[in-house]
Amino acid sequence: MHQSKLFTKTRKEAPKDEVSKNAQLLIRAGFINKEMAGVYSFLPLGLKVLNNINNIIREEMNAIGGQELFLTALQDKKVWEKTNRWSDEVVDNWFKTKLKNDTELGLGFTHEEPLTNLMKDHIKSFRDLPMYPYQIQTKFRNEARAKSGIMRGREFLMKDLYSFSKDENEHNEFYEKAKQAYKNIFSRLGLGDKTFLTFASGGTFSKYSHEFQTLSEAGEDIIYICDKCSVAVNDEIIGEQNSCPECGNIELRKEKSIEVGNIFSLGTKFSDAFELNYNDEKGEEKRVIMGSYGIGPGRAMGTVVEVLSDEKGIVWPESIAPFKVHLLSLGKNEDAQKIYNQLTENGIEVLFDDRDKKAGEKFADFDLIGIPYRVVISEKSLQAGGVEFKKRNSEDSEIISVEDLVSKIKF
Ligand code: ATP
Ligand code: MG
Repeated sequence: MHQSKLFTKTRKEAPKDEVSKNAQLLIRAGFINKEMAGVYSFLPLGLKVLNNINNIIREEMNAIGGQELFLTALQDKKVWEKTNRWSDEVVDNWFKTKLKNDTELGLGFTHEEPLTNLMKDHIKSFRDLPMYPYQIQTKFRNEARAKSGIMRGREFLMKDLYSFSKDENEHNEFYEKAKQAYKNIFSRLGLGDKTFLTFASGGTFSKYSHEFQTLSEAGEDIIYICDKCSVAVNDEIIGEQNSCPECGNIELRKEKSIEVGNIFSLGTKFSDAFELNYNDEKGEEKRVIMGSYGIGPGRAMGTVVEVLSDEKGIVWPESIAPFKVHLLSLGKNEDAQKIYNQLTENGIEVLFDDRDKKAGEKFADFDLIGIPYRVVISEKSLQAGGVEFKKRNSEDSEIISVEDLVSKIKF
């Protein structure tokens, strides 16, 4: 991609009303646009990152048997009345609307009800179980506070997987697999070191649910970490669980954190409401056991910015960066286009700063946008024997020959 063709421009200032670091940097670097409080559009660079995150999540969900679908955002009131979650007293963040004939509709804030209802047509016998449908889909929530940029949107993307199992054993087995898949996801997103499996309140069915909490001053949650086990306890249950649930350690470290994902055992709460049953091997009718597994890809993206950026700008991990290489051509030279062609022919994604701008401005844009590798080609570099190569997260640079560049970046 030639930067001269990219319609987004970097800017020195973020909008005055934007208080979160993630949105400030993402807006300044041209990844997102703020439409109103808690509502952000994803621009070409931002969409590339979001899609990279979604694809990592997809790979990990598919690997544990997930089947992707895409449910509607528009929701039928009747379905939600079955669990009493249509009521504004029970759920305080609905966006509701009406058809021209006054029929009420809602914009989905989650999808347990419609999916359980849908699965009634597909689950009849033990042969139909287990089943793990998931989606990456837009949710709407009338959040009271929207000061955390893309980490708390009123319209946001969620990956939500729901498990349908024959019995508790089958459920627990999958629950453990999902835990591991979540660990894989957060380490692939570059958040592994800072993300803790956190015990949270479980509702009625199981003692705990589990959250994945990433340490950050920008977090809205508080967790207590056990340094022996590398697990944590959420602030909301620390009263009843004031020691490490794994080893009993009572010296827990208090930290602020961001909930990047969570997994829940739902038991028969939803299958009871919808009478979602199956016939077992003996022909006896049984209730399906359910679980839900959520991740916010936008929140994860915001978290990466909060946690990994520095004073100059964003630092993307290679796994989700919009491009692998930022090629900066200083002054006029034809070799830059040749290098661009050579890299792209090798399947390396390159943002080519071919604009007629001062070197300082190009360097500052590289730091702000946060692409992992910088390659500078100039009269000076050519005289020194090739191109200057530098990583975004390192101060060291080196001159390497154009021939060595491809293998250097590929491996
Ligand atoms: P929180 O307590 O932070 O509001 P939640 O408990 O409401 O989160 P869930 O309903 O379980 O979250 O949603 C699953 C995942 O979706 C969360 O772990 C988070 O990553 C993401 N998520 C939830 N609310 C938002 C939001 N408003 N904007 C962006 N992502 C969100
Ligand atoms: Mg919430």
